[in-house]
Amino acid sequence: MKFGGTSVGDIDRIRSVARRVKAEWDDGNEVAVVVSAMSGETNRLVELCKAANPMHDLREYDTVVSTGEQVTVGLLAIILQSMGVEARSWLAWQLPFNTSNSHGNANIDNIDGSEIIARFETQDRQVAVIPGFQGISPLDRVTTLGRGGSDTSAVAVAAALKADRCDIYTDVDGVYTTDPRLVPKAQKIDRVSHEEMLEMASLGAKVLQTRSVALAMRYQMPLQVLSSFENKPGTFIVPEEKVMETADVTGIPFSKAEARITLNGVPDRPGTSALIFSALGDAGINVDMIVQSQTNENQATDMTFTVTDTDMDRAVSLMESRRVEIGYQELVADDKVAKVSIVGVGMRTNSGVAQKMFRTLSEKGINIKVITTSEIKVSVLVAEEYLELAVRALHSEFGLDV
Ligand code: ASP
Ligand code: MG
Repeated sequence: MKFGGTSVGDIDRIRSVARRVKAEWDDGNEVAVVVSAMSGETNRLVELCKAANPMHDLREYDTVVSTGEQVTVGLLAIILQSMGVEARSWLAWQLPFNTSNSHGNANIDNIDGSEIIARFETQDRQVAVIPGFQGISPLDRVTTLGRGGSDTSAVAVAAALKADRCDIYTDVDGVYTTDPRLVPKAQKIDRVSHEEMLEMASLGAKVLQTRSVALAMRYQMPLQVLSSFENKPGTFIVPEEKVMETADVTGIPFSKAEARITLNGVPDRPGTSALIFSALGDAGINVDMIVQSQTNENQATDMTFTVTDTDMDRAVSLMESRRVEIGYQELVADDKVAKVSIVGVGMRTNSGVAQKMFRTLSEKGINIKVITTSEIKVSVLVAEEYLELAVRALHSEFGLDV
């Protein structure tokens, strides 16, 4: 069971988390709980580090920001004990929860769950309470997994303990076909495959961290996303063969945090793309969509790519500084764009899905600026002002409206 920041936001909420845990335990289950810091706490700790010194040592940053979770594991264990549930907290170094040495954004190496399992098997069936987000490096220093990392911690712990399932309790009651704040007719999805969820998370659905879904897919670990405030089933994320019905489209994630950069009049010769994209890659700028138009009479082409809007200014100045080397004529940048995607494993077998998407958008007079596809998704870039119209039209066209 994993509980996020709002679910452990104060003592009353931690008490209701403890009641949930107790209910599972009373049912005879062996339970490990992973918790986040109280909501807002990690932000507060990050700000303290910045105030101390903007150029702080990342090892000490981890020492500071990992403490939010230390507080919540202790509090939850105290409350569980007061309810008569045998429980103890485990900090990352006590397990150990081993990670790489990359402070602030560590990768998980392995987790020793043997002691937890041994205690499950005693008469007390001791509940393990584990901090999300934190790990321990090969040099025995505390690490953190990057912001939002406790979902990933939970999946990794579930895999290490060979759990039947990993339940992620949060402030929404499941995964929706699209963001209900934009489309009131969005509905909760009952079951979705790991692969679809992975696409949806990386294309803008914010409910789960992408990395946690990738890990769950690797271990074929079933997940459930459910509300910590209401008592009802959420969305199950399961291996693909367990998803029965295959509609064409399962979800319509979108993202406004996109920016488009076009280089006009790029010389059409070997090495140009390598030059452009290695410059961006070396600067740590992630490129998402790419299109190169056909060469015109003067042996020049147009190259369009997208980056996140926060990287746009850096990408633009980088391209400007390489202008002579790359040899383009003109640069156009636009951050008033949004990416809308349709995702569904049904696309593997059903043809005409992309075509239906393009027709729907054209009927609404929405111009598509860039297209990318994979086996189970189609993404288009549109002007941000058309985002809502595009998502609503696609949502009803693909039969997802409630
Ligand atoms: N507390 C950490 C954060 O806010 C990890 C998490 O909650 O997922 O980023
Ligand atoms: Mg979180």
